[in-house]
Parts: sequence; C-alpha cells; structure tokens
Amino acid sequence: MLEIKNLHAKVEDKDILRGINLTVNAGEVHAIMGPNGSGKSTLSAVIAGNENYEVTEGAVYLDGEDLADLAPEERAHKGIFLSFQYPVEIPGVSVTNFMKTAINETRKANGLAEMPANEMLKVIREKSELLEIDRKFLSRSLNEGFSGGEKKRNEIFQMAMLEPKLAILDETDSGLDIDALRIVANGVNKLKSENNAIVVITHYQRLLDYIVPDFVHVLYNGKIVKSGGKELAYELEEKGYDWIKAEN
Ligand code: ADP
Ligand code: MG
Ligand code: MG
Repeated sequence: MLEIKNLHAKVEDKDILRGINLTVNAGEVHAIMGPNGSGKSTLSAVIAGNENYEVTEGAVYLDGEDLADLAPEERAHKGIFLSFQYPVEIPGVSVTNFMKTAINETRKANGLAEMPANEMLKVIREKSELLEIDRKFLSRSLNEGFSGGEKKRNEIFQMAMLEPKLAILDETDSGLDIDALRIVANGVNKLKSENNAIVVITHYQRLLDYIVPDFVHVLYNGKIVKSGGKELAYELEEKGYDWIKAEN
C-alpha cells in the first residue's frame, strides 16, 4: 500500500530525512518511534504532502502511484489521513457538520454523489457508538476549547468517518495523558482491518501497551536505524534510546 524509497527531505536548507525506506501493507499496524527531533513528524508531514518540506531524493508511493506531484488535499482524497491535519477552531461549525462536509468533499473528489442525509446520520451514529462518543460532543464547535483528550477523540472520530486507507497518527510530544492514549489506542484497535493500514508515531512506549503493532521502527537522525516486531518496543522501554544513539 505505502512504499517509501530512499526518501530524503529538507526544511529551510536543513536536511532532516536522510534515506528512509519503509513498506506498509494493508492490514498492518506499524509504530515509528525515536527520540525527539529524529524526524518523525517530518516524515508524516512529507507523506501527507506538506509543502513546507522539500523532497530532495527518493519517493513515496501509494498503491504504486508516486505521490510527488499531488497536493495534500489530493493525497487525502486518495485515502491518506494524517492526525492533526485539521487543528483549526471553527466557532459555529459543529464536529458533525465539519465531518459531513469533509466526507462529501472526499466523495466528490472520487466522482461519487453526496451521501444521503439519512445514511450520513446512520454512519455518524454507528461510528460514535463504536468509539463511545456522546451526542453532546458531536454538536460542539470544532476544536473550540477542546481538552487534549477531546482533540484526540475528535481526531479518531474523523478517522472513523473518513475510513482512510492509510492513517498516520502522529502523537507529537507532550500533553498526552493516559486517557488520551487510551482513546487513540481504542480507536486504532477498533478501526484496523484487512483493508487499511495504520502508522502510529510516538515516542511513548506506553502507547504500545494498548496498541499491539505488527512492526516497530526506530527513527534516528532521519533514518530508520532498527526495525523489528513488538518486542523492539519493550526493549526500548527497558533500555531507552541511548544504545540506539551509541550505535549510530
Ligand atoms: P520528531 O517528530 O521526531 O521530534 P521533527 O520531525 O519534529 O522530529 O523534527 C526533526 C528536526 O527537524 C528537528 O531538528 C526540528 O527542529 C527540525 N524541523 C522540523 N520542522 C521544522 C520546520 N518547519 N522548520 C525548521 N526546522 C524544522
Ligand atoms: Mg518532536
Ligand atoms: Mg514529532
């Protein structure tokens, strides 16, 4: 599904990614870990097509298609979802209405008619029940005064509604309490299927107590320096990142 080959990228003349190779197949959950500043968020931004980052070598393919010339919206329409892609506060626009618009835009971009209102309501009900999101939350203004946990809940709801092929959840750095981690983990576990793939970016080993990844990769200094199964996450939990730094 996703194939990254020898990816190099820079921001403001600084080389950040230095030759990333990664293959993610449908049905898989991958965790990307690594110390702060290693390039994790840069990698997710480059996959999503963020124009602040310049790809200087290599490529990203989705289902065999080179994404180089596609804008972020076009990538989203092809089924790439990046958490925190829509962090804006929109007073007066509810979580639900924002979702309706996003879904219909995606359908339109893929040559589909708008989703009928009754079907939309049904999907919203199903997904919100699955994720234990209450009605009151759905009618709140988007991101306005949301706590960290509520932002996570909204993100996971967006992911559930959009049913992306490839979801990239960048857990950024601080501010994720145990409740927010649980929300993310529950969402991922409920939404993973044979048809989608999920990449969870985190520097917390803790998250992986709740999400069991099929593969774990360690990113350091813009390269994947180690890959393994879930046992690699336990090893990192025990030993931290110093041994990785020492080896590289
Ligand atoms: P991580 O997510 O692993 O903590 P980042 O991808 O956020 O790492 O950052 C990697 C490096 O790139 C850091 O040195 C960071 O300062 C730098 N960097 C990332 N984004 C920008 C930007 N927009 N402008 C300048 N430097 C950036
Ligand atoms: Mg960071
Ligand atoms: Mg980051």
